Amino acid sequence: MKLLLLGSGGREHALAWKIAQSPKIEKLYIAPGNAGTSNVGENVAIKADDFTAIREFVVKNNIDMVVVGPEDPLVKGIYDYFKKDEALKNIPVIGPSKAGAVLEGSKEFAKGFMQRHNIPTAGYKSITAANLEEGLAFLETLEAPYVLKADGLCAGKGVLILPTLEEAKEELKKMLSGMFGNASATVVIEEFLSGIECSVFVLTDGKNYKILPEAKDYKRIGEGDKGLNTGGMGSVSPVPFADKAWMKKVEDRIIRPTVEGLAAEGIDYKGFIFFGLINVKGEPMVIEYNVRMGDPETESVMLRIKSDLVELLEGAATGNLNEKVLEIDPRSAVCVMLVSGGYPEHYDKGFAISGIEEIENSIVFHAGTALKDGQVVTSGGRVIAVSSYGANKEEALAQSFTNAKKINFDKKYFRSDIGFDL
Ligand code: AMP
Repeated sequence: MKLLLLGSGGREHALAWKIAQSPKIEKLYIAPGNAGTSNVGENVAIKADDFTAIREFVVKNNIDMVVVGPEDPLVKGIYDYFKKDEALKNIPVIGPSKAGAVLEGSKEFAKGFMQRHNIPTAGYKSITAANLEEGLAFLETLEAPYVLKADGLCAGKGVLILPTLEEAKEELKKMLSGMFGNASATVVIEEFLSGIECSVFVLTDGKNYKILPEAKDYKRIGEGDKGLNTGGMGSVSPVPFADKAWMKKVEDRIIRPTVEGLAAEGIDYKGFIFFGLINVKGEPMVIEYNVRMGDPETESVMLRIKSDLVELLEGAATGNLNEKVLEIDPRSAVCVMLVSGGYPEHYDKGFAISGIEEIENSIVFHAGTALKDGQVVTSGGRVIAVSSYGANKEEALAQSFTNAKKINFDKKYFRSDIGFDL
C-alpha cells in the first residue's frame, strides 16, 4: 500500500512512525512532514490544505489511502473533495466529511449535537450581536469563573476563562465585535466545569468504533499548570482515574451516542474522534470534540497500540472495523515536549539541535524542526517530543526527563512536572 499522511507536527511524526511499522506499507509519503518524518517515510513539499497539489500527487503516485493529521484540511472539506472527483473517489480518506468536521469547526454545532443526543456537557447559550442582551443576562445567572468560546477555529486561542462578571461582559462584547474575526461572530457562553481533564480517542467507520488508549495532556507553559496556554507540553497514558468503570460511563453516555448520533444525522464519518472530557466528581462530561488525534497525546498513545494501525485504518475506511483487533500495550507511555524559550509568545527559530543520535530507550518525535544544509534546526515553538515507555508513569517519565536533558538547542525549555497531578 502507498499511503499519504498530511501534516507536519509531532502528531504526524508519531502517526508516521506507527504506520511505517505496518508490513502492508510499501511506501509512506508525508506532506509536508518535518525533519523527523523523513526518517520513516518520504517528505513531499505540499501543504496539508493545498487540495489541488494533493490531487495531482495522489493520481501521479497511485496513492491507496490518505490519512489526515490536522483539522484544517478536514474542516475545509478534503474528504468531500475526494468523493466528488472521478479519479479520487475510491481512494479512502481517513477523516470525517466536512459535515462531520463541523463538530470541531463550530462550538455551537457541537453543543447542539450533544444536546440533541443527550450527551453530558456544560449548560450553554449561543450568542451573536443580535442577542447580546440575552448573553449578558445569561452571564448573570452563572457563577465565576465564566467561559466564553469563539464558535469557529482560532488555532486553540478562542476560549477565554474570566474571573469576574464585569470582565466576562466586556470580553463577550469584544469577541462579538471581531476579536477573533469571523470566528467569534458567534460566541458560546458555558457553565464552568471543575475537574481533571482526560482525552479519549476512538477510531470509527461510522458504525463500529475502537477505543484507543486515553491520555492526559499538559497545556500550560509553566510548572504546576501555570501561565499561558500552549499547544501542549507533554502527555501521559494511561490516566489512572479512567478505570474500567469510568470508561464504561464514557462509552455508554458519550462515545456510543456520538457515533450513533452522527449516523442518525446522516453524517459520513470515517476517522478519529477526540473527546476532550472532564471528570466532574466521578462523572465524565464533554468539554469539546476534535475530529483528529490530539497533539501531544498521539506521541504517547501511538506507543500503546500494539496492533497494526494500517489494518485498523483500512477497517475504518471499508466499514468492517468490528472485524479488526486492537491490542493495547499495558505499559505506561509518556511524552515530554521540548520547546523554544519564549514560546508561546515570541521565540526565535533556526537553532541547531544536537544530541538526538545519543538518545537510548526513548523515541524522539520531531514537531517544529527542519533540515538546513544537513543540520536539524528548530523551526517552531514546540520542537521535539521525547516519548518513553515504563512499567508505570514514574518510570516512563524518568526516562523522558533524562533524555530531554541530553538533547540541546539554544533556549531549550521543558516542563519537568508532567504527570504531577495523576
Ligand atoms: P476547548 O477549546 O473547548 O477545549 O477549551 C480549551 C480549554 O478551556 C479546555 O481544555 C479546558 O481546560 C477549558 N475549558 C473549556 N470549557 C470549559 C468549561 N466549560 N469549564 C471549565 N473549563 C473549560
